[in-house]
Amino acid sequence: MTWSKARAAQVHWAALTVPERVDRLRPALRMLADRIDEFADTVHRDNGKPRVEALAHDLGNSLTHMRWLFDSAADLLGPTPVPLSVLPNRRATVHRVPWGAVLIIGPWNVPLFIPLSEVMPALVAGNAVVLKPSEVTPASARIIEEILGACDLPEGLFQLIQGDGSVGARLIAEGPDKVMFTGSVATGRKVMAACAAHPIPCTLELGGIDAMVVCEDADLEYAASAAAWGATFNGGQVCASVERLLVHSSIRDVFLERLVDQLERIDPTRDLGPITFAGQRAVYEAHLADARERGLEVPIGGQFLDDSRLAPTLVAGEGVLDSSVWNEETFGPVVAMTAFDTDDDAVRLHNTVSCGLTASVFTTDLGRGRRMARRLRAGLVSLNDIGATLYGQPELPWGGVGTSGFGRSHGANGLVDCTWPQVIEESRLGAMEPKRPWWYPYSADQEDLLREFALAHAADGKRQTVKRLASAGRAAATLFTRTPRR
Ligand code: NAD
Repeated sequence: MTWSKARAAQVHWAALTVPERVDRLRPALRMLADRIDEFADTVHRDNGKPRVEALAHDLGNSLTHMRWLFDSAADLLGPTPVPLSVLPNRRATVHRVPWGAVLIIGPWNVPLFIPLSEVMPALVAGNAVVLKPSEVTPASARIIEEILGACDLPEGLFQLIQGDGSVGARLIAEGPDKVMFTGSVATGRKVMAACAAHPIPCTLELGGIDAMVVCEDADLEYAASAAAWGATFNGGQVCASVERLLVHSSIRDVFLERLVDQLERIDPTRDLGPITFAGQRAVYEAHLADARERGLEVPIGGQFLDDSRLAPTLVAGEGVLDSSVWNEETFGPVVAMTAFDTDDDAVRLHNTVSCGLTASVFTTDLGRGRRMARRLRAGLVSLNDIGATLYGQPELPWGGVGTSGFGRSHGANGLVDCTWPQVIEESRLGAMEPKRPWWYPYSADQEDLLREFALAHAADGKRQTVKRLASAGRAAATLFTRTPRR
């Protein structure tokens, strides 16, 4: 029922132009803006994150993202003419076609913006959307339902289906046209396997153990302040939070001191959201136990402040590279630190983990920073800022490599991925052309023509090309005088 309703609505929706769809969706932006404080409260209560984070990361990002999308979508989704080098007598255009009925499955950590930043492009591109948000944060998803309820949309075009993982699994089994999933690596694997059974295309936005590289020439106070925020904002429950620090050995001790100082300044009741999903506490406990067993240094933190808050925690020392905090996503206010001697070392240490969502390099030598950035295996590398901040930039493609998943949300890539490319091609010469020389009956003349034509495209330099084309022309003339034209 869900999908037949969605598909019936999608037929009408896809028949509209992109600007018409955008116009129908504008009231959603208006309502989100008009009720920004009320909705920020909802997200704050639903997820537990500080109000300032709900306002900036969920509401603010949603508004800027929608504004960019509404302004850019028509250009980005327009038809693209493609010149044909082998068949210059023909012309082709690539059109973007919506997938149909898309399933979006969301996580609980940024419970409004993450699903909304996929729902909106999918709708603008002409799809119907079924949203299955995280069962941990149902109220934030109801905001999306409410703002889309203010828009003139065909019935069933957007459907919110609340429930746990079993509901997500059922919806995939029912066969949507595409799945856009954001969540953990473990669930991502299940989602991909379920999609493979149909098969259905899927995009996977999965976890990260993102790293920050601090060079010896960096502004250490600034870098320490960035690291403290990057590792702990949203309670550290961010796919792109700083979980690993690579610090040049010559400044290792002084940077550690400054970072501890910055982490000490965090007021847990004011700045640090609680653990949103209680099950996450077990991961923190396991990673801290592993660090203790390995005899690692914990210069600050390491203990729970109450049932729902872990103190901002730094783990360092000999053996950290083998520890769970270094190699697995903790998804909490925990950061592991090691030292490097050369840029090559930093790159190697960075690239040894299986995932790569974002990374950052802190240095005052921008040339060095850029060179290192190009070698880091991560979907986004920021110089002198936290990669996660760029999640709010609507123009940028978002996504990772390795176990961070594949496909992109946001930006032109994210929007275009809500569609598939359809090529329409035709003759430049009118409705009909002469019979094709490679059609039946096959003959030796035809072989001569096709060989010379192929070799003309592989020839070195203009003279050789012209020679081959002339030869192909002669073969064509012979062929056409010997075989019927139709
Ligand atoms: P999760 O994998 O536990 O759940 C994500 C969603 O999948 C939920 O809606 C859940 O109900 C659903 N689900 C669970 N089992 C399913 C199944 N078998 N079939 C279909 N759906 C199923 O993730 P989470 O704990 O909600 O979110 C935290 C994770 O998400 C972290 O690993 C984080 O790094 C990642 N994340 C990634 C990004 C990104 O952009 N790359 C953004 C945010 C979060």
